[in-house]
Amino acid sequence: MIHHLDDLIARAVAEHDGDIYELEDLADDTPEELAPHLPRLLAADVVYPAKLYRAADSEVQRGLVMKVDAGCKDGLRLNHLLRALAQARGPVAEAAFRRWREQPPPGADELCVGPADYMPEGGWMLDGNQVRELAGSTSYYLEAEEDGAGGHGDDAESGHERCLGCGGPMWTALDLDTADERVAEALAHVGWVGRLRLAVCYQCDVDADTVFIEVGSDGTARLSAPAEPGTNLQAIEAPTVRMVPDRRAGPHPVHSAVGGQPVWMEDAHYPECSKCGKSMTYVAQIDMQDVSHLVGYHTFFLHTECNLAAMISQGE
Ligand SMILES: [Zn+2]
Ligand SMILES: [Zn+2]
Repeated sequence: MIHHLDDLIARAVAEHDGDIYELEDLADDTPEELAPHLPRLLAADVVYPAKLYRAADSEVQRGLVMKVDAGCKDGLRLNHLLRALAQARGPVAEAAFRRWREQPPPGADELCVGPADYMPEGGWMLDGNQVRELAGSTSYYLEAEEDGAGGHGDDAESGHERCLGCGGPMWTALDLDTADERVAEALAHVGWVGRLRLAVCYQCDVDADTVFIEVGSDGTARLSAPAEPGTNLQAIEAPTVRMVPDRRAGPHPVHSAVGGQPVWMEDAHYPECSKCGKSMTYVAQIDMQDVSHLVGYHTFFLHTECNLAAMISQGE
């Protein structure tokens, strides 16, 4: 295995590209195994994909910062370096992002956003002078179970919930409760206590940009802006499964999971709470293939203080 990893690193260095699926899998499952090899990748200027740098130590972070400060010949390389630092996290990366808010590095004017706005790629951000976590560090897989096979006692009742827009059945995408120790652990970063039920209309909401759901710890779930009656005539069948917590996963699950960090199919995009404007915190993701024939993720967020949840759907 060690020799094999050496070979993969040698290939990344030779090809000047770390986009090798075995390396990406390691970055998702056990990024610390890549840590000893990062100085070599950095020396060869292999800084893509950013997730290879998830377990970068202070010295490697310092190396990335030096490359940024030295200036990049093109915006794409600067973009890759900032993403790698966002994934690496840690005090050296944090200090650099703080400094670049006041003194942007060379070439920053070519970026679409400020350097510190890259931090959400690694699940963190600067909120004033504080670091704020946008995601969690522990996660549990969610497994699909036929609806009605367990959960709360009022399943029958929620089954009668109807969408105000199309009249179809509401789908309870998630019904979690911090009484389950796994859920309590996976949701510790959002400070939610009690039941968290997220119900949407698959037909009306699966294509929407951001769907906001008002939630209560008693399991209340109400769409903030339900579709107007009769406005939606798509024929997408609602899933018949519900997702329930299962075994423990790592901090970067790539399947359906509660907690940990979300998968982003494009740039990280944490929705802003529609009540207060703060960035919402990630809570769970559902791999669409677990519940439908679609490909992508339903990604769920929460702003506990406002009792507001959100779903965004990242399709392929
Ligand atoms: Zn509907
Ligand atoms: Zn809010």
